[in-house]
Amino acid sequence: MAIVEVRNLVKEFPGGVRAVDGIDLATEEDEYLVLLGPSGCGKTTLLRMIAGLEQQSAGDVLIDGEVVSGLPPRARQVAMVFQSYALYPHKTVLANIVFPLRAARVEKSERDRKARWAADLLGISHLLARKPRQLSGGERQRVALARALVRQPKVFLLDEPLSNLDAKLRASARDELKRFQDEVRTTTVYVTHDQTEAMGLGDRIAVLSQGRVRQVGPPMQVYDDPADTFVATFIGSPPMNLVPRGDVLVGFRPEHLLPSEVAPGGLPVTLKVDRLEYLSGDRHVYGTAIGVGEPTRVVARLPATVEADVAVGEEQPFAVPARRIRYFDAESGVRTQAGSS
Ligand code: ATP
Repeated sequence: MAIVEVRNLVKEFPGGVRAVDGIDLATEEDEYLVLLGPSGCGKTTLLRMIAGLEQQSAGDVLIDGEVVSGLPPRARQVAMVFQSYALYPHKTVLANIVFPLRAARVEKSERDRKARWAADLLGISHLLARKPRQLSGGERQRVALARALVRQPKVFLLDEPLSNLDAKLRASARDELKRFQDEVRTTTVYVTHDQTEAMGLGDRIAVLSQGRVRQVGPPMQVYDDPADTFVATFIGSPPMNLVPRGDVLVGFRPEHLLPSEVAPGGLPVTLKVDRLEYLSGDRHVYGTAIGVGEPTRVVARLPATVEADVAVGEEQPFAVPARRIRYFDAESGVRTQAGSS
């Protein structure tokens, strides 16, 4: 039940690295805000400044409208869960979970009550007597979350908490995290470089690059209406196609480049097909787009429901529905309203 805000936040490390280069950002109440960006874009540094683990070079951090920039982590009532979980290896799961409460001198019966509540919520009640090494990666993650949860923080700060899990476990852990989030509505700032995680978990996503925010919006918005070519190509797999045409780039997502018989009236594209891939039932068609602008390598993603014949080596008529086309300034990469022809 808190709002986290940063104002013109800057972090410059010795040597002149501006890891965070003037960020303005605010969560809404009880919101799940995901910070998404490539390695080195400043996500962790931003999160650590919110937590109070890193001192900012300029700007302010506010929680519920109060400047907390000068306060130590403990006084900020935030709980951070790291990639590594940092569980105490020699303590039991129960002792790990109650640790922050012991440190805060909460009395034993209350500690146990809270630990059992959190363990129950996260489905780890049967593991309380074990040591961390006797747990799977997913279970360790839940212990780390339980430990953060018992403090009943105003804000959760999660730094790639799923990154140590294999792909399958990540998907189920993501699902669990989502359900946990729906149950415990606590404002959360979640860092990841994984767009699938960001799209699945975030109420809104802030896309970062080189210490700056490129765009903030709900998942659908950053996907459908990217503010610039960085966002357009960072989100989406395969990324948005960008075809140079004069002083603009004509952008369209792979799933919107379709055989012309299923996209009548769209922008015509002749696709010279050079490779086909079958992925999860979709056909990914790689080739060169001709007739839109400069001949450019693009990819089309055809769902199983589109059964049109596509053959390697052929030039085939494709099209993009007009309302799916996005234009970007060729020089700055910033989205523009319409394309020049
Ligand atoms: P990743 O996804 O790889 O964890 P990130 O987006 O979280 O990356 P940060 O860890 O915030 O990125 O780092 C941002 C930039 O600041 C990087 O260029 C990094 O090398 C630099 N940096 C981070 N910590 C320090 C430090 N203590 N001293 C100097 N430079 C640092």
